[in-house]
Amino acid sequence: MKLSSQLFTKTRKDAPKDETSRSAELLIRAGFIYKQLAGAYVLTPLGLRVFNNIVQIIREEMNAAGGQEISMTSLQPKELWEATGRWTGEADEVWFKTQLHNKTQLGLAFTHEEAITNLMREYISSYRDLPVYAYQLQTKFRNELRAKSGIMRTREFVMKDLYSFSRNADEHEAYYEKMKDVYLKTFKRLGIGDQTFITFASGGSFSKYSHEFQTILEGGEDTIYLDRAKGIAINEEVFNDEVIKDLGLDKAKLDKVNACEVGNIFTLGTRFSDALDLKFVDEDGERKSVVMGSYGIGPARIMGVIAELLSDDKGLVWPAALAPAQVYLVAIINDDAKVQAAADKLYAELTKADISVLYDDRDVRAGEKFADAELIGIPVRLVVSEKTVSAGGIEVSSRKGGDTTLIPESGIVEHLEERTKHKRARV
Ligand code: ATP
Ligand code: MG
Repeated sequence: MKLSSQLFTKTRKDAPKDETSRSAELLIRAGFIYKQLAGAYVLTPLGLRVFNNIVQIIREEMNAAGGQEISMTSLQPKELWEATGRWTGEADEVWFKTQLHNKTQLGLAFTHEEAITNLMREYISSYRDLPVYAYQLQTKFRNELRAKSGIMRTREFVMKDLYSFSRNADEHEAYYEKMKDVYLKTFKRLGIGDQTFITFASGGSFSKYSHEFQTILEGGEDTIYLDRAKGIAINEEVFNDEVIKDLGLDKAKLDKVNACEVGNIFTLGTRFSDALDLKFVDEDGERKSVVMGSYGIGPARIMGVIAELLSDDKGLVWPAALAPAQVYLVAIINDDAKVQAAADKLYAELTKADISVLYDDRDVRAGEKFADAELIGIPVRLVVSEKTVSAGGIEVSSRKGGDTTLIPESGIVEHLEERTKHKRARV
């Protein structure tokens, strides 16, 4: 993609004054997101590419875990939620409600347990129909009380929510345990594996605990008590002597740290299947309630976490698997037609080799191009200048390590293919 003629966003020196989150500040300055209002952001072309790369990794892992992708609707009928007691009461704090012209009340879904339980009533009637695992990457609306963490807490956001439907508690438990590993693998692939820990949080009527996946983050809204040696943590919300003892942990070995919840898994038991009459006839001929679980991940929240976690004082630093492009190509022109031609040729060659490039062909100072390359955080920067052309090579440097080498023009594609094993982002 050419910066001068194709990318409409521009970088900016400062973020809006009302933006207090470091990740949002960086993402706005680099042109990945635009703040529409508190708790609602636009993903601009670069931001959408990162978001899609995150989503793709999550999707691959959910498919591998037997998940079938669907897409439910945000428009929800009142009656369904009255049946589970979530139309009014505590839930009123998060609902965005609306109505049809004839005054029929509707809600914009803040989660989808009710909707999917209702859906499965159509398809599940026998033990032969189970287990079922279905997920979506779909929009949730939540009237969040505070929205000060940029894209890590918004009032409209896409969630990956998977729901499991099992015959009994054992079958549920086995899948639930498997999903812990699936989640850890997913966060590893997303580049936050080392900082992300299974965290014990409050359960419901069907389980003592739920499990959150918390990433250690200075700007995180949660507080967890972490046992680094064991790699597990307790959320402050349930932190007490009884829980510490129950988990066999030693209070003296727990670090209190700020963290951000990037995902969570929850045993729902028969709370929703009882309320909405999702039953099946088991092998023994008995009619039983389906046992359910829910498994959430927030891709935009992860984008914010990575922006904060992996950035430095110069800007963003994307891991190759998530970057909006693999290469940032800088041409330092200085009235030299030869340099322009060499850079154009290189751009065409890389594009043909399926290496995604952001081509900084703007008519601005070299210093500005370098600063923007650092702010935007593409893994590899290439420089074509009078100096490199006369030396018969291209300057290659890495955003993360800063190391720089001159690679002969004839070997550049091979060199980059070696360096950038991930080619998810397409131009
Ligand atoms: P939190 O405790 O942070 O409010 P939650 O427990 O309400 O989150 P869930 O309802 O379980 O979260 O949602 C699953 C995942 O969706 C979370 O782990 C998080 O990654 C993401 N998520 C939740 N709320 C938001 C939000 N307001 N904006 C962006 N992502 C969110
Ligand atoms: Mg939570």
